[in-house]
Amino acid sequence: MPNLQQVTILGATGTIGVNTLDVISQHPNRFAVFALTANKNVEALFNQCQQFKPQYAVMLEDQAAERLSIQLKQAGSTTEVLSGMDSLEFVSAHEKVDAVMAAIVGAAGLKPAIAAAKAGKRILLANKETLVMAGSIFMQAVDEGGATLLPIDSEHNAIFQVMPNDKRMSLIDGGVKKILLTASGGPFRKASYEELKQVTVKQALNHPNWVMGPKITIDSATLMNKGLEVIEARWLFNASPDQIEVVVHPQSVIHSMVEYVDGSVLAQLGNPDMRTPIAYALGYPERMSSGVGSLDLFKTARLDFEVPDVQKFPCLRLAFDALRMGGNAAAILNAANEVAVEAFIKEKIAFTEIPSLIESVLENSTINQVIDLDMLIASDTEARVAAEAWIGRSS
Ligand code: NAD
Ligand code: MG
Repeated sequence: MPNLQQVTILGATGTIGVNTLDVISQHPNRFAVFALTANKNVEALFNQCQQFKPQYAVMLEDQAAERLSIQLKQAGSTTEVLSGMDSLEFVSAHEKVDAVMAAIVGAAGLKPAIAAAKAGKRILLANKETLVMAGSIFMQAVDEGGATLLPIDSEHNAIFQVMPNDKRMSLIDGGVKKILLTASGGPFRKASYEELKQVTVKQALNHPNWVMGPKITIDSATLMNKGLEVIEARWLFNASPDQIEVVVHPQSVIHSMVEYVDGSVLAQLGNPDMRTPIAYALGYPERMSSGVGSLDLFKTARLDFEVPDVQKFPCLRLAFDALRMGGNAAAILNAANEVAVEAFIKEKIAFTEIPSLIESVLENSTINQVIDLDMLIASDTEARVAAEAWIGRSS
């Protein structure tokens, strides 16, 4: 069929990937799936390949790819199976691809996202860690590659929607005073510090408003998610740390706001469902249906706002600190956080030790100017080693 947009979905088996395929399946005359990728979940990727018939399926792990390849052949599929990081980059930069949904979780999403940027694709960026780790390098690649960058993170998508067209990279020219980034506050908004110390993995994985992958759900509980989003906003909208204010808004109905110099505040509202930002970015600049129901304001009834408590949730302060430090500090913060979250999920450290670990790694690392990607990847590796050592000492 002519004029079908060819889409690669990185991290297809995750929460964002599944929601993206849901939206795409509602618009078969607009989109075709070029490639689907996953880490190692063979069953899930097999089923998606059967339904969406992509040209390529990529698994990070060789053995998983091997198993997927056998299963697909037995089922008579023509999808070609590849493996490894190089293949993730290949399906992100392929000449037949129009749009890339970057929805791998963590630092693993960085290289394919950069490949898509350099190849000038329309990038639907869910993987916020790319901007946290390598904001300057990624934005430069977007610029040089002539790529179109559309934020999927609901807050940034909201900000994108209420900013003046073509002035998003210069807040002053656009008459924007500041960005008001909303945060649900997570499941422990009302908990005392003593209660936070006892938090279990199960409790932390139970987000009040959003259904998301485990890593971002824990990040939401510590408020590191909002910290990462502050850094993400800094790069997407060329904002200084002082131009970004975090507002706790427990209902998650306002997805973020922008305050203009004349006192106007513009907000984007909707049900907390990622298919709205996904459909916005897939269809941009046109609007298209997403399957999300109407917002019932009468049922919502009230909208509350609070100042975030950085004493109880130091991760948010640490992210602002890293942003102000500049250079490789955010990459170090991100790597230490990834190790800390995994250790918490494996019950090796307590919930309240997540910020302690990150703070210690940040304090003991050398902060340098960003020279290139290799340097950032080295900082990421060093921070992971330091974080593992911290866990070794604490247990
Ligand atoms: P998820 O854990 O549900 O899915 C992650 C996906 O990445 C899976 O398909 C998995 O197979 C793949 N993956 C994991 N590790 C990989 C690796 N090392 N190499 C290659 N692939 C790998 O995560 P999610 O909730 O869908 O989030 C994805 C990204 O989107 C994250 O960066 C998250 O911060 C961001 N995001 C998610 C939401 C949400 O509502 N879920 C909202 C905003 C932003
Ligand atoms: Mg978000």
